[in-house]
Amino acid sequence: NGFLKLGLAAELIKAVEDLGYTQPTTVQEQTIPLAMGAGEKGEAARFIDLMVSSQTGSGKTAAFLLPVLHTLLKQQAEAEAQERADFEKAVAEATARGEVLPKRKRKDPTSSRNFKAATPGALILCPTRELAQQVAHDAIGLVQHCRGLRIANVVGGMPYQLQLARLQNADLVVATPGRLLDLQRSMQIKLDKVQFLVVDEADRMLDLGFADDLAEVNQLTIERKQTMMFSATIAPRIQQLAARVMRQPQKLQI
Ligand code: AMP
Repeated sequence: NGFLKLGLAAELIKAVEDLGYTQPTTVQEQTIPLAMGAGEKGEAARFIDLMVSSQTGSGKTAAFLLPVLHTLLKQQAEAEAQERADFEKAVAEATARGEVLPKRKRKDPTSSRNFKAATPGALILCPTRELAQQVAHDAIGLVQHCRGLRIANVVGGMPYQLQLARLQNADLVVATPGRLLDLQRSMQIKLDKVQFLVVDEADRMLDLGFADDLAEVNQLTIERKQTMMFSATIAPRIQQLAARVMRQPQKLQI
C-alpha cells in the first residue's frame, strides 16, 4: 500500500485499506508529510501553515484529515502512557507508606454539575452544512480503528441537543463558522486547545461572506497551531484571506 511510506499510524493505514485506497493522490502525497512536520525538526515542525490549491475530487479531505488524526492519535497514546505511569507511581508510593489508594470516583456525565465545554484539538471549518457533513463522514471512516478519537459535527439546522452531546468529548470538530461561533459565545466550546485549524473550500467561504467569521474564529484560537487552507484557486482575494489567518504559508499548487 502506497500510504505506508507516509509514516501514518497503523490504525489509519488500516482504515485507508478498508476504504479501498491503495495509492495516495497527489495532494495527499504533497500535503501529508508537510502537515506531519517532515523536513523540520522539533517544535518548529508543527507550525508550518499551508495554502493548498486543489479541486474537489482530488482527495483533499483525506489530505488534511490523515495528518491531523495521526498527530491526535499520537498525543492520545502519550497522554494515556503518562496517566498510567502517574497512577503506578502513586500506587507504589502509597504502598511504601503502607496505605491503600482510595478508589477514584467516576463522574456522572449526565449530571449538569459535570458539564464542561468542549475543547477539541482540531477544528475543520467548512462553508456549507453539506460539506461539513461529508467531511465528518470521511473522518468517521478514517477513525474506525482508532479507539477513543471522537468526531463531532457542528452545523446549523440540526437539533442542538443532539450535537451538544457528541460535542463535549470531541477531539476533532467539523463546523460551519456561524454555528461554531454561536456555540463559542454560549460557552459550549472553547477553542484554546485547537492545534490544527483547517479551512476547507476557502473560495466558497468568501463567496458566502464568512471572511469575518473566519478571522474571528482564528482570533479565538492560540497562536501556536498549524493552519491549513484549501481552495480551488489561489486568486488574490484568497491570498488576502490567507494573510488574515496565516503567517507566510507554504503554497502548494496541485
Ligand atoms: P475529496 O477530493 O476529498 O472530496 O475526495 C474525493 C473522493 O476520492 C472521495 O470519495 C474519497 O473517498 C476518494 N479518495 C480520497 N483519497 C483516495 C485515494 N487515495 N484513493 C482512492 N480514493 C480516494
